[in-house]
Amino acid sequence: MLTSALVALERLLLPNSCVACGRVVAATTPDALVCAACRSRLRPVPAGCDRCGQPLPPVGPCRFCRDWPAGLDWVTSAVWLGQEARAMIHHLKYEGYTRLGDTVAERMALVMRHPGPALLVPIPLGAGRLRQRGYNQAAVIAQALGRFWRIPVDRRTLARIRETKSQTELTPAERAENVARAFVAAPPPRRQSRIILVDDVLTTGATLAAAAAALHEMGWTRIGAVTFARALPFVVRLELAR
Ligand SMILES: [Zn+2]
Ligand SMILES: [Zn+2]
Repeated sequence: MLTSALVALERLLLPNSCVACGRVVAATTPDALVCAACRSRLRPVPAGCDRCGQPLPPVGPCRFCRDWPAGLDWVTSAVWLGQEARAMIHHLKYEGYTRLGDTVAERMALVMRHPGPALLVPIPLGAGRLRQRGYNQAAVIAQALGRFWRIPVDRRTLARIRETKSQTELTPAERAENVARAFVAAPPPRRQSRIILVDDVLTTGATLAAAAAALHEMGWTRIGAVTFARALPFVVRLELAR
């Protein structure tokens, strides 16, 4: 915890340079961590499947959210995981730039509709990883988003009971297996309580699905989720390359 505070302090004292392109940014810019050019290159995720937000296939129903558990009603992401978004997440997650939580949440609040009364629940880290990193990037985002949306953040309802391997190198099936039964949840205080899960990146949705399954098992029925970035599906990658 102390190390992470020192790292945050160091970040505050360094001259401002954009985390995505490295160019020096005027210290007078309201948030000098990401330059205006890189912000303008963040690409919003257009509307897709009603439930998961993924681009729909040319024919037939959405396959992306087919195996998601009951209870996970909708998931939206603010931007595609392009180069700039990837750099922002990396610095927020591994380099101690917790102030990026505000930049990230600001963009989410800008492109997402206010979800109405709910509890924001960040995807928890395991205890070991939390000790190692000093903070949970999803919780940092949730806190900032809660301020923008004026929605309370709840960090007690969901816990990670099993440390999971990094998902980066895994196939979709292995991801689902890796996070299955990783979470436990407390029951809802009232039947009508709504939860909005918060995470930094959506790749296959396996983590959100596992968290929603644990909540649903305890009686939560109205669960949505928001993420800052979303991994580029193949079709979108092709479009952007053109
Ligand atoms: Zn930049
Ligand atoms: Zn879908």
